[in-house]
Amino acid sequence: MENKFQLFNTLTRKVEPFVPNEDGKVKMYTCGPTVYHFAHIGNLRSYIMEDVLEKSLRFAGYDVKRVMNITDVGHLSSDADTGEDKMLKGAKRENKSVMEIAKFYTDAFFSDCGKLNIKTPDVVEPATNCISEFIHMVEVLLEKGYAYEAGGNIYFDTAKLDDYYVFSSQSEKELLVGVRDDVEQDENKKNKSDFVLWFTKSKFDAQELKWDSPWGVGYPGWHIECSGISIKHLGEYMDIHCGGVDNIFPHHTNEIAQSEAYLGHKWCNYWFHVHHLNDRSGKMSKSKGDFLTVSLLEEKGYHPLVYRMFCLQSHYRKPLEFSYEVLDQVAAAYQKLVKRIAGLDKNGEIDVAKKAVYHEKFLEALANDINTSSALTVVYDVLKDDMNGATKYALVEEMDYVLGLNLTTGEAEAGKAAGTAAGGADDELTAFILAKIEERKEAKKAKDFAKADAIREELLAKGVAIKDTREGVVWELV
Ligand code: AMP
Ligand code: ZN
Repeated sequence: MENKFQLFNTLTRKVEPFVPNEDGKVKMYTCGPTVYHFAHIGNLRSYIMEDVLEKSLRFAGYDVKRVMNITDVGHLSSDADTGEDKMLKGAKRENKSVMEIAKFYTDAFFSDCGKLNIKTPDVVEPATNCISEFIHMVEVLLEKGYAYEAGGNIYFDTAKLDDYYVFSSQSEKELLVGVRDDVEQDENKKNKSDFVLWFTKSKFDAQELKWDSPWGVGYPGWHIECSGISIKHLGEYMDIHCGGVDNIFPHHTNEIAQSEAYLGHKWCNYWFHVHHLNDRSGKMSKSKGDFLTVSLLEEKGYHPLVYRMFCLQSHYRKPLEFSYEVLDQVAAAYQKLVKRIAGLDKNGEIDVAKKAVYHEKFLEALANDINTSSALTVVYDVLKDDMNGATKYALVEEMDYVLGLNLTTGEAEAGKAAGTAAGGADDELTAFILAKIEERKEAKKAKDFAKADAIREELLAKGVAIKDTREGVVWELV
């Protein structure tokens, strides 16, 4: 198959051609949710962008098999293997059993995914289904000398590897800052970076779900789940592994360590990481208590697909700040876009040559490291072109497979999309303004204030005034 795709690979820190192990086939794995609470819209940013990646590859003609786990045991409140099991915390919070909590929040997660047009992966496997696979991996790691028993737990010995910190040359200290929540020291560990493969002893011994193992009754560590589940369903070689950037260390670093030690060869070639959605106080996180969910956005009158479009307008490798002002602007743009598409005259012959040109442009945008804002621009270019309505409609329908915005079926939904701030601007102008605001944000970040000012002037010349507020940039027509 002709190789078009370019993807940023966290492993090499470069945008590089994407070449799967088997021609035309892609084996893809996604770290699934820890089902102790609702997913917040930050988590869902990662799943939206991973969905776009999967659909972009399918759009390009690849046959994709995608696997995702559901973390229903073993993810402790600190990623550094300390603290209480998150599932148990959730169960106590709601006075329910762990399995009840898991079922409720797994269903809630897929309901949110449905609202956001996130396709369910081909295989979804809860960790509690695969205990024997995890035990087998731990046995092999012990046999091969990569693991040791201490204080009743089995640990992976990171000192046995030549290069444990595969993702970067950062120091251990720097990386540990990325570890979520409290970082406590476990005295059983030979090396600070060692991690638990199997727990039988924890200071929180009220763990509800426990299984027999050669090392006593216990439960698996979080990292072994993703290695075990992906190898079970995708085999020894994987093409792309996805997650949010907070998964890079320690989770994905540990997955690579144990998978490659177990398999005896390189495991996954491409690592795709989505940057965080932040609120004004920083990264959105479930442990912070108050967090934004899809249901909350719905209660406030936003259609969930407005949030999907909000995500598509920025690149997955840039942090994204959430604000209602920008969401309002996107809602207005979405509403106008859907209405404009609904108004197309669908009669007439499809112009096959024209269609092929825009198909290619759309694919080019996606193949350029999943440039979703450029892909959206192609939709506007199609609508602007002088080809007939039937061709435009066919193209939008095709592109919407990846964009997932119900562009040809969503007139009713668009009616529900809240939109106030952007009243008066047409959809092309709105898209242009949002792209300029994004560009100005980047310029400011790079301390290129002259460029930032020039962008402000450029917008003003078009009759658009922008204002920096605590919630982000807002704009109005003047
Ligand atoms: P969790 O349910 O905590 O295991 O997280 C599910 C997914 O959401 C993981 O891939 C995380 O890396 C990702 N994630 C967590 N917080 C954010 C955030 N604020 N923005 C984007 N993705 C996130
Ligand atoms: Zn994982």
